[in-house]
Amino acid sequence: MTIALPIRPAADAPAYYSPSANECSLFERAWARRLPLLLKGPTGCGKTRFVSHMAAKLGLPLSTVSCHDDLAAADLTGRYLLMGGDTVWVDGPLTRAVREGGICYLDEIVEARKDVAVVLHPLTDDRRILPLERTGEQLAAPASFMLVVSYNPGYQNLLKSLKPSTRQRFVAIEFDFLPKSDEIAVVSAESGLADAQVAPLVELARRIRALKGHDLEEGASTRLLVYCASLIDAGVPVREAVLAAMIAPLTDEPDVKTALTELADSLI
Ligand code: ADP
Repeated sequence: MTIALPIRPAADAPAYYSPSANECSLFERAWARRLPLLLKGPTGCGKTRFVSHMAAKLGLPLSTVSCHDDLAAADLTGRYLLMGGDTVWVDGPLTRAVREGGICYLDEIVEARKDVAVVLHPLTDDRRILPLERTGEQLAAPASFMLVVSYNPGYQNLLKSLKPSTRQRFVAIEFDFLPKSDEIAVVSAESGLADAQVAPLVELARRIRALKGHDLEEGASTRLLVYCASLIDAGVPVREAVLAAMIAPLTDEPDVKTALTELADSLI
């Protein structure tokens, strides 16, 4: 059986970004002065959207890499690959961004392996070079190249934190969830659901965020709010959507789930 549902088209151009302070002008000026940028903040609060918005605004190509614990320097710089019997050098996303003079965005940089820092250091000081040991090249980054990295201090532990020698190479912008009325506007714009129906969901998310640190590692993000509102806009009953998009992804603990469900039932 197939169910025909109206599909909201994905936007070609990056969707709008609702600023929370002066981060757009700070980004632009950092870019103009060739300074690398570090974005700090909880997951799903708009960091990736901000970078794609700024890349489009500045007319720059953007390479985004989601870092993980197996990501090594060669995944960013490139490797020799066997192609039809020949060995061919293939640029990684960082090398491509340097050659093109675009923005390279490394999301959750603390997850990456330690050798990544070695590659980033000469790019993030006044040398602005990317040495490619394997090819013997030394690429000088053009003026328009910018390195942007992000991390979530909430996940930080002793093993995974940015070393001072790395973090002190970046201008840092701190992100947090938007004020209530702005978050309602964003979730409504992203999902198509009316403000009045989004408002209690945002209130619930804010209450859940207040519980962070007690029984929850992370609160409900704007991303989860967008998912929840999108499900409701697609016809899923409100309570079902809240359970699926705002509660189940947050916890595996039955007691915590019950407490969050009771909180949801009191608000929606
Ligand atoms: P992060 O990179 O911080 O994990 P994202 O940028 O992917 O988070 O944000 C998740 C989603 O939340 C976005 O896809 C977008 O729908 C929405 N969002 C969050 N903040 C904003 C904002 N300030 N303006 C527009 N959309 C936002």
